[in-house]
Amino acid sequence: MNSRPPAKVPFDVAQYARRSREGPCFVCAIQAGHPDYQHHGLYEDADTIAFLARYPTLLGHCLVAPRRHVESWLNDLDESQYLALQAVVRRVARAVAVTVPTERMYSLSLGSQQGNAHLHWHIAPLPPGVPYEQQQFHALMAENGVLDIDDQAQEDLAKAIRSQL
Ligand SMILES: [Zn+2]
Repeated sequence: MNSRPPAKVPFDVAQYARRSREGPCFVCAIQAGHPDYQHHGLYEDADTIAFLARYPTLLGHCLVAPRRHVESWLNDLDESQYLALQAVVRRVARAVAVTVPTERMYSLSLGSQQGNAHLHWHIAPLPPGVPYEQQQFHALMAENGVLDIDDQAQEDLAKAIRSQL
């Protein structure tokens, strides 16, 4: 793969917030095949799905989610369900790390009760060469821009990641 990440372009955060808060649950919509929620799948099993982020802030940024609409990883998953989810997080992250240049792999659960409540885990590979002050949350915030990457490039990336799984 081309090791040079795409440039970041400004992102309409207000429009995204409206979609997140007023639209259907995006993880459930993806699973239902909703035409407005096309996705580039990476992995699926009986309980878990993984797919590329629709608005990636880092090349290879993807999400892992339980199929079931649960919202709290503390309260809605028992220990074995949580560990099974994390096994997929680790497996997908390792596939991402050998596909795109990765200096450090971020892994975190975000979302909000007011939007994107369906539990989902972010896997976000920080490439080498990002200045220190632009790493960590700065690198993840869509307010700082999202990657200018077209659908075909995302599908090619998904295919490359899937080949490592
Ligand atoms: Zn859902």
